Amino acid sequence: MGRPLSLRDSLPGLGRLTRRFWPYVRRERPLIMVSLLALYAEIVLRLLEPWPLKWVLDRVAGVTRHRGFSRLPFLDALDPAMLLALSAVAVIVFAGLRALAAYYNTVGFALVGNRVLTTVRNELYGQLQRLSLSFHTRARSGDLLVRVTGDVGFLQDVAVTALLPLLANALTLVGMAAVMLWLNAPLTLIALATGPLFWASTTRLTRRIRETARRQRQQEGAMAATAAESIGAVKVIHALSLEGTFAQAFTGQSRKNLATGVRATRLSAGLERTVDLLIAVATAAVLWYGARLALRGVMTPGDLVVFLAYLKNAFRPVRDFVKYTGRLAKASAAGERVLDLLDRTPDVRDLPGAVPAPALRGAVRFDGVTFSYEPGLPALEQIDCVLQPGQRVALVGPSGSGKSTFASLILRLYDPTAGRVLIDERDIREYTLASLRAQMSVVLQDSLLFAATIRDNIAYGAPGTPHEAIEAAARLANAHAFVEALPKGYDTMVGERGVTLSNGQRQRIAIARAAIRRAPVLILDEPTTGLDGENERAVIEALERLAEGRTTFLITHDLLLAGRADLVLYLEAGRVREWGTHAQLLQAGGQYALLYHLQTAGGGRGTTPQRYDAVTT
Ligand code: ADP
Repeated sequence: MGRPLSLRDSLPGLGRLTRRFWPYVRRERPLIMVSLLALYAEIVLRLLEPWPLKWVLDRVAGVTRHRGFSRLPFLDALDPAMLLALSAVAVIVFAGLRALAAYYNTVGFALVGNRVLTTVRNELYGQLQRLSLSFHTRARSGDLLVRVTGDVGFLQDVAVTALLPLLANALTLVGMAAVMLWLNAPLTLIALATGPLFWASTTRLTRRIRETARRQRQQEGAMAATAAESIGAVKVIHALSLEGTFAQAFTGQSRKNLATGVRATRLSAGLERTVDLLIAVATAAVLWYGARLALRGVMTPGDLVVFLAYLKNAFRPVRDFVKYTGRLAKASAAGERVLDLLDRTPDVRDLPGAVPAPALRGAVRFDGVTFSYEPGLPALEQIDCVLQPGQRVALVGPSGSGKSTFASLILRLYDPTAGRVLIDERDIREYTLASLRAQMSVVLQDSLLFAATIRDNIAYGAPGTPHEAIEAAARLANAHAFVEALPKGYDTMVGERGVTLSNGQRQRIAIARAAIRRAPVLILDEPTTGLDGENERAVIEALERLAEGRTTFLITHDLLLAGRADLVLYLEAGRVREWGTHAQLLQAGGQYALLYHLQTAGGGRGTTPQRYDAVTT
C-alpha cells in the first residue's frame, strides 16, 4: 500500500499559507467541528461498505468452512435468508447514510473555505489600497488584478475541490489500515511494502510537475497583466497603430503558456499511469497471498473481499494526490503571490502614536526636505519654504524638475528621505493618513472620474454631502449649467474614465469634487493644460474661486497663470532656484523672467504654447 507523499514536503508554500490564514480558519471553528463529525461519519460508513458482501459470502453462500469468522457472533446465529435480506438492506442504509454525511461535510467545508478566502480577498483588496504609490508605480496593475480575483479564486477552488477530498481520503486511509491490520496483519504488511516503491517512483515526477505548475501560474499572471495594460492603453495603441505588435506579444506569451500547460498535462498523465501500475502490483501481491491464506482457511473469502475492497479505496488518496498535485502546486504558487502582497508593509503608513489631525489652518512648511525615488538620485534636494495659511504658490520649472514630487510630499504619498514637511508646525507624520488627506483637495491635469453618476462623482470628495451642497460646488466650479443641460442632469452616468464628457467638463466636475471638501490645502497639478480657450477660461475662473481661503499649490507651465499667485517657486533639477513674487522674479531678471518674456512674446497664452523645458534643456 502506498504512503501518500507528505503534503508539507510537496508544497513548501502550504505551511506558510496555513500559518497566515489560521486566524481566519479558527473563526469558523463551530462549522469546522460539525463538518469534521460528518466527515468521520462518512469515513466509518465507507469502512463498513464492503462488509455486507463479506457476510453474504461467508454465511449465506456457505463458502466458509469455519464458523465464527464473521467476527460478529450475533450474525452467526441468524438464519442465512434473513442475513441475506439484512445485508441487502445494509447496502442501501450504509450508502444512504454515507451520502448524507458526505453531503454535509462537503457543504460544510466548502462554506469554511469560501468564507475564509472571501476574508482573505477583502483583506488583500484593502492592502492594495493601503500600499503606497511607490509600490503601485512599480507593480503591474494587471498582475495585481489577477492576484485579487484569479489567485484567490484559484486558491478557493483548490481548497474546496482538492485539499478537502484529500484530507478525507487520508483519514480514510488511516482507518482502513487499522481495520486491515485487525483482519490480517501479515497481508497488511505485504500491501504496505509497496509504499517505498511509490515514494521512489513518484517524487521526481511530482517535483517536476510542481515546478511546471508554478511556472504556468506565473505565466498566466503575466498574460493577464499584459491584457489589462493594453486594454487600459487602447487609445494610445490605436493612435500609434500598435495593435499588431501587442497582439504578437500576447500570442507569444500565450503560446509559451500553452507549451507549459501541455508539459504539465503530460507529466501528470505519466505519473497517474505509473501509480496505476504500482497499484496493480500491490493488488496482485495481496490477491496471490490472500487467496492462499483463504484456501488454507486462515482467513475467510469474505475477509479477502473486504481486504481487496479496502486496498482499492486505500489507494485513492495516493491517486488523488497524484491527480491533484499539479493543481495543488498551482494553488500554492497562487497562495504565495497572495501572501507576497499581504505581508508587504506599506512604506507610507500611520506611525505608532499618530493622532487624527485637528481642523488645520493650512500653514505649510518644508524643512530641509530631500526625497529620492531611487537611492542616490534625489528628485528633490534641501527644500526649505514657509507658507502662510491661504497663500497661493505657483510651482514652475522644466519637466522632471520635481514639481509633482513636491506636491506628493504634501499629500504624504511619499515620506521625505530627509527633512520634514510640517502643517501648522507639526510634522505631517504625526497625523493619521486618513485625517491628513481628508483636509486636502486635489485637481490633476487629467482628472479621473469614476463610472458613476455625476452627483456621486462630486460627492466622492466628501461622502454624505447633501444635494444642495453638491449643486453649490458645481456652481462654483462652473459645472452646474452644463450638468443641468444633460438629459438626466446630476444623475447622468459617466462612462469609464469619463469619456462621455469633454476634458474641460471633466475638469470642472473635478473642481466641484475638490470644492465640497472642507480642505484648507489645495493642490492643482497642471489643471488647465490641454484645454481650449473657452473651457480654459471657465476652469481658471472656477479654480480662482476654489482657491479662495485655501493654501494653494499650483503646478503649471503657464506663466501667466503662475503670475496670479502670491508666490512663485522656480524649480530646476530638484532644487528651488528662484523664489519670490512674480514681480520680484521678473525684476531679478533670472531664468523665470527669461521664460516669461519668451512665453508672452509669442502673443500670450493659447497662441504659442512655449514650453520652457524646450528652452532650458
Ligand atoms: P515634474 O513634476 O517637475 O515634471 P517630477 O516630480 O514628476 O517632476 O519628477 C522629478 C524627478 O523624479 C524626475 O527626474 C523623474 O524622472 C523622477 N520620478 C518621478 N516619479 C518617479 C517614480 N515614480 N519613480 C522614479 N522616479 C521618478
